[in-house]
Amino acid sequence: MDGSLAPRIVRTACPHDCPSACVLEVERLSPTRIGRVRGSAAYDYTAGTCCAKVARYAERVHHPGRLTQPLQRVGPKGSGQFAPIGWDAALDRIAEAFRAATARHGPEAVWPYHSGGTLGVLGRWGLDRLRHVMGYSRQKSTICITPAEMGWKAGHGAARGADPRGVAEADVILMWGGNPVSTQVNLMAHIQRARKRRGAKLVVVDAYRSPSIEAADIGLILRPGTDAALALAMMAVALEEGAADRAFLAAHTDWDAAVEAHIRRHTPAWAAEVTGVPEADILALARLYAGTKRCFLRAGVGFTRARNGAATMHAVSCLAALTGSWLHQGGGGFFYALDGWGLDTRLAWGSDLIDPKIRVLDQSRIGAVLAGEALAGGPPVAAMLIQNANSAEVAPDSHAVRRGLLREDLFVAVHEHFMTPTAALADIVLPATTFLEHDDLYLGLGHTALTVGPRVIEPVGEARSNHAVVCALAARLGAEHPGFGMTEVEVLDATLRSSGKGSWAAATAAGFIPAANEIAVGEAFAGFPQPDGRFRFKPDWPALGPYAAGMPGLPSYWLNLEEAAEATPFRLITPPARSFLNTSFTETPGSRSREGGPALRLHPADADRLGIADGARVRIGNARGALTLTAMRFDGLLTGVLAVEGISPSADFPEGIGINALVGADPVAPAGGVAFHDIAVWLRPA
Ligand code: SF4
Repeated sequence: MDGSLAPRIVRTACPHDCPSACVLEVERLSPTRIGRVRGSAAYDYTAGTCCAKVARYAERVHHPGRLTQPLQRVGPKGSGQFAPIGWDAALDRIAEAFRAATARHGPEAVWPYHSGGTLGVLGRWGLDRLRHVMGYSRQKSTICITPAEMGWKAGHGAARGADPRGVAEADVILMWGGNPVSTQVNLMAHIQRARKRRGAKLVVVDAYRSPSIEAADIGLILRPGTDAALALAMMAVALEEGAADRAFLAAHTDWDAAVEAHIRRHTPAWAAEVTGVPEADILALARLYAGTKRCFLRAGVGFTRARNGAATMHAVSCLAALTGSWLHQGGGGFFYALDGWGLDTRLAWGSDLIDPKIRVLDQSRIGAVLAGEALAGGPPVAAMLIQNANSAEVAPDSHAVRRGLLREDLFVAVHEHFMTPTAALADIVLPATTFLEHDDLYLGLGHTALTVGPRVIEPVGEARSNHAVVCALAARLGAEHPGFGMTEVEVLDATLRSSGKGSWAAATAAGFIPAANEIAVGEAFAGFPQPDGRFRFKPDWPALGPYAAGMPGLPSYWLNLEEAAEATPFRLITPPARSFLNTSFTETPGSRSREGGPALRLHPADADRLGIADGARVRIGNARGALTLTAMRFDGLLTGVLAVEGISPSADFPEGIGINALVGADPVAPAGGVAFHDIAVWLRPA
């Protein structure tokens, strides 16, 4: 209790795979226990708000199912039979497997793998230091936002945008394809302030009636993957009615007569046919958007998780350039701030040691990689250490992922909080600390600041941090780098200092560090982060990735979707559930009871046609797999469209595998990514 009988409030930051990276205040009840968690008011983006999942984090950190000691497999692969093993012996086994794989096939046969289970500078990417020093296979992190990122970059030149706090000064907030009520509560708090103070209108566009559509002033529900058609028609109306900002287009974009003629062809009547949105609603939204100078375009990610997702994001992002809203406070647009962080990552990530000759494997294609079908020209993968990733449930084509992880000639170590389905397939399982048990810095991808996460309590059981595991393996493998001999705080402090961002001590005192990576709006607008400062209506897709063949050279509705066919007539989307975050929090009782079991939302007309009652058991499937779940009649989507919220645990499905078994792992143009909301399926009563 730090010499006091009163609980102490400790400021830290949320590490989870969520763009808010909230600054938090955690009630520390003892050196090993926490109480309540709340958003901190110290940083005005968090503004005292955090989500319910993290507010009850005590449920997760003190969960009886936490892994507390290293385990080794003692039964057949995937049998779930494990026995305790000491840390030294576990680390020796991993090092031995890495050495054996290297001796047999070369260092590229080792694939250190990480994903967004934490967005910590050290916790997520510190494994890269070991990778680069040892010459192990590199990783392309595509699973979340690559199509969105490429689509935004295509026009703007970088994944940067207006400061999202600008919504407070907007008269219209156009939330395209996101659901902040469920997934970004602090953004919603800023939007609510704008509505109260300025009478701002919230418009939400999505493929189903999400909680954010229910909270909006105007909600438009369209067919999945058709968002670009709506955006094009809105632009055509703006041109037709003289609402485009011609001076802005001439000064700050590559606009020309060919672009104009192309956009003008996309009438609201055509878009109504494509999207399923009534023509009158398209006209009304076009007039509201183009007629409002202070209109903030907040692009989400969900609508880009389709095979045409990057082209769709580009078309949507053209709206703010067409109307010149960047010249007005409360205007412009934002998706994620992925670029411009100004961090010197040499010490933390070994980023100066990257050898471009070493192959890069696509994390989203882990099933194909482990099957030897996507090896980028190198040897088979023979050994893995997986941190922050539950690939057996989260990666697409889950059957292929499981087959790969079960290969008898593959060694897998998983460093985790819980015995996830991925950990259950491993040879060695290591207990990981949560963010409350180690020090780190977090990238606030949904705003423009690093948030600072000092540890709050002692590690639970024998749990160790990702940094500690990387350093211990490095020592066994003879890997040399200054970062392997430093504590987390020493690495973070040195990183901040060499980045010109102060010290760890100053950062923890403040709680956050502004990155100043936003595109200025209003009078301060000084162009886009393109080489010539101009927004591109004519994107250079081949410059953005290797899968650009066939992509449209102008803003377009690119008909490149997993189209519904006779055998698979329904289109399925899998938006996030409010109480889960990917598969994190699927283990906590509060989240589990709020979400219930996996449910299939389907339009009542489709349900009637197929004789499916509310609550009936149904099966959905395609060539990749089939699943059984509970039907929920729901009139908040168009006929022919199905929605399953969240990644419910595989164990909740009778088939023992989850929703991503139905998702394809083919890479999305132009640079990879997963079409999580672009799935054609059949549906029948169970
Ligand atoms: S999950 Fe997101 S909203 Fe919840 S506390 Fe973490 S950063 Fe904030």
